[in-house]
Amino acid sequence: MTAASFSSLQSDHSPNSSNSQGVGVRTSGSAAPKPATPDFAVLGGGLSGRLVAWRLAGAGHRVALYERGGPEGGEAAAWVAAAMLAPLAEAAVAELLITELGVASLDTWPRILAELPEPVFFQRNGTLVVWHHADRTEAPLFERRVRANAPRELADAHFTTLQGAQLDAAEPALAGRFARGWLLDGEGQLDNRQALAALAAGLAQRGVETHWHTSVDDANLPQARVTIDCRGLGAKPALPALRGIRGEVARVHAPGIGLTRPVRLLHPRYPLYIAPKQNDLYVIGATEIEGEDRSPVSVRSALELLSAAFAVHPAFGEARILELNSQVRPTLPDHRPALIWDGDATLRVNGLYRHGFMIAPAVADEAVRVAEALLAGRLADADAFEALRAGSRWASMLHTTQGQSERAHA
Ligand SMILES: Cc1cc2nc3c(=O)[nH]c(=O)nc-3n(C[C@H](O)[C@H](O)[C@H](O)COP(=O)(O)OP(=O)(O)OC[C@H]3O[C@@H](n4cnc5c(N)ncnc54)[C@H](O)[C@@H]3O)c2cc1C
Repeated sequence: MTAASFSSLQSDHSPNSSNSQGVGVRTSGSAAPKPATPDFAVLGGGLSGRLVAWRLAGAGHRVALYERGGPEGGEAAAWVAAAMLAPLAEAAVAELLITELGVASLDTWPRILAELPEPVFFQRNGTLVVWHHADRTEAPLFERRVRANAPRELADAHFTTLQGAQLDAAEPALAGRFARGWLLDGEGQLDNRQALAALAAGLAQRGVETHWHTSVDDANLPQARVTIDCRGLGAKPALPALRGIRGEVARVHAPGIGLTRPVRLLHPRYPLYIAPKQNDLYVIGATEIEGEDRSPVSVRSALELLSAAFAVHPAFGEARILELNSQVRPTLPDHRPALIWDGDATLRVNGLYRHGFMIAPAVADEAVRVAEALLAGRLADADAFEALRAGSRWASMLHTTQGQSERAHA
């Protein structure tokens, strides 16, 4: 394992000293005990890094986490995400592995949130899918894609057609506005920023050594027995096949509309969602633009997002724009998440693309399983890795660096 001294990185930000979140301050001085090498160094404290570090610390391990941004999570794709947990709706653009990870994670989120020290808005009130009459040819396409990618029993049980008065009763805020729609019941969403904050508080509570505002570079990795790389797009130097897919969202305050669940509008060019959070806050998203451009939202995208919201409900015309923001989704060539073992003592968790919140609990569980095998010395060679894969529900997510680069070039 590459494990150079960490002293150069921590000159400005010694462990647990650099944040304003009430994390303990370690005093320096000759009498201070030298910190022991942690079991795990988690690189990147966005969504997956926080979750993995929190889970490992909960299992009794000594964990250090390094994040280039602050505890609020403002540098992460997770900061901008709408955090919809919609495995069936996403099956229109994702394959079975993602749907199944999403279903497993939907059941796990409430247990995670119940253990965090701060409240997080979480809802399982379903997803409503609607379309304007002019775009009605989109509807059978959407349904066909969902049914092709999702397990049959899931689609049969949770895909309910609503017409006229049924639709009006299900979502009174949209009464009279759409003739038909689908309710994908049981789907969920949460508040992404509350989740990041609660996870940061959870890390502090579990004694994770947090190094906020600390950028880790591959030539100078912190010392640890096992390294878990959760840097999202920041892991590109180690995973050259990674690419970014830009997404733009608007956050608006719209009192009085009262949507009760995320609404997806089918459209041939501007498919859009509106996710209602607490206190009349709505996240309207999201564009999908190939590239890693993190410049501000374009006029074109802002017009598309806001016009589509206005078309769902004209009261959005009076909403107040709180924020227009962009971020980049970390994406592997096959658009699937991956846990990639380097053959030594590093595991990379990446490729969460547009489904990070939806699948993170199941991905983190599996990452913890592999990471603990590494720590215990049970993952020492290719045969051991194959045995671990064979025992995994998510075998197609487990790769070695060599296998991953072969896939990238296939
Ligand atoms: C517009 C948009 C909408 C989205 N909507 C949804 C949605 O509705 N539902 C859903 O499930 N998902 C959604 N996502 C996807 C989700 O946000 C991502 O899949 C998820 O955030 C990826 O998690 P991650 O931990 O891999 O990466 P990130 O959340 O990006 O975290 C990576 C972290 O690593 C840190 N880092 C990078 N390099 C370094 C370094 N060298 N040293 C130290 N730290 C480093 C970064 O600062 C960052 O905090 C959306 C994404 C976008 C952009």
